[in-house]
Amino acid sequence: MIKRFWSVFSGLIFGLALLFTQAAYAADNIVTAARVWPAQDYTRITLEAGKPFVYKMTLLKNPERVVVDIENVEFNPALKSLSEKILGSDPYIAQLRVARFKPGTVRLVVDLKAEIKPTIFTLQPAGEYKYRLVLDIYPVKDPLMAMLDERATTDNKLPSPEISTAPEVSTNSAAVKTLPISPTEPTTEILSENNQPAAESVKPVEENQETTQNNADEAVIKDEIKNKSIDKNIRQITIAIDAGHGGEDPGARGAVGSHEKDITLAIAKKLKAKIDEEPNMRGVLTRDGDYFIPLHGRVVKARKLQADLFVSIHADAFTNPAARGSSVFALSEKGATSASARYLAKKENESDLIGGVSLNIKDPVLARTLLDLSQTATINDSLKLGKAVLGHIGEINTLHKSHVEQAGFAVLKSPDIPSILVETAFISNPEEERRLNDDAYQDKLVQSIVSGIKKYFATNPALAKTKVALD
Ligand SMILES: [Zn+2]
Repeated sequence: MIKRFWSVFSGLIFGLALLFTQAAYAADNIVTAARVWPAQDYTRITLEAGKPFVYKMTLLKNPERVVVDIENVEFNPALKSLSEKILGSDPYIAQLRVARFKPGTVRLVVDLKAEIKPTIFTLQPAGEYKYRLVLDIYPVKDPLMAMLDERATTDNKLPSPEISTAPEVSTNSAAVKTLPISPTEPTTEILSENNQPAAESVKPVEENQETTQNNADEAVIKDEIKNKSIDKNIRQITIAIDAGHGGEDPGARGAVGSHEKDITLAIAKKLKAKIDEEPNMRGVLTRDGDYFIPLHGRVVKARKLQADLFVSIHADAFTNPAARGSSVFALSEKGATSASARYLAKKENESDLIGGVSLNIKDPVLARTLLDLSQTATINDSLKLGKAVLGHIGEINTLHKSHVEQAGFAVLKSPDIPSILVETAFISNPEEERRLNDDAYQDKLVQSIVSGIKKYFATNPALAKTKVALD
């Protein structure tokens, strides 16, 4: 009897031990989606899973690589698909290899076309997404900065620049050492990579890179101001055009499936073209592709280019599909002018949660100006601009509200640039969704916004306002 007891007991212990051994290796998180958003500004790689990510990033030199080990996951089709999602035209990534590194750990190796600045962070569930791991690949030199440098040195006539241009296809892929990883035999190949002289080549990512970058940006802006003051005779009005949402943040979804981010981009591009036709105006886009920019990043871009006006393009949505009409909004310093304006601002401000913002990135330039300046005068100008634009939109579409409403929209917080947000129509209304996708209607809409802008300038000649000095 005792013998039998011991036999059962030892069997139980053995079974438990086996269970624990297996549990130590069994990953209990599953990567359900992998997305890549390439752009000249930066390329973003996003992984999504049912549970929070555990990861470690390493930056390697010669050749330039980013290595990310993701723990508690197994290699699966979603992760495998990531390699195929890297475009040959990606400005920064030559190729991406993913494989099982050891039981319960998957390794991502991003082979780069040039030296880059990576940022990695996780996001809590938001919108339709579960837990996300976000790897952003930034150029060492901000494309906006590069463009300003070029303008400062080569041209005083201030031609019409794009904030971000179509990605240049880097053809230096021959310089990139190709090391394909077979998912079935990944370990040795990746391990050998890991065995490279680590002391020299492994470099921890520095937290203060962003600050250095911002200081450099500030210097460029000062140069720009100097150049402009030399060349006083040419006064070109710069309109920053902001296509709402983008990339990870699709914005509102239409009755037949249109994404707000696509409609806003189409309209923004048309608006830029129309503005560029005006002799003394130029349009600059905050984004020209399907990628995400944080709300404060849009404000910063407009300020860096010394925009005279800021127009953010959106398409409204409501639970009731009968809701329709266009509306125009300005910032409010003291609460919203209506419950619906407050609701809308809250919804639009969720863009950062859904699109994904690293909390480590702070812009000292913006933070200081926001603290120092009262926005009252700018808001008064924003209301005048909004009224002029709303009047003209009213000639081509029903107005949802006949006056400019106000609420705490984060994207309208430029302290010294009159800023409006145009809800072009309701994407949730099937008829308006059809019109928003219609080329001819987009043209009419864009023409009415330009007419509104011109009317604003015609009645507000005090345009040559002094820009806020940055020192
Ligand atoms: Zn929106």
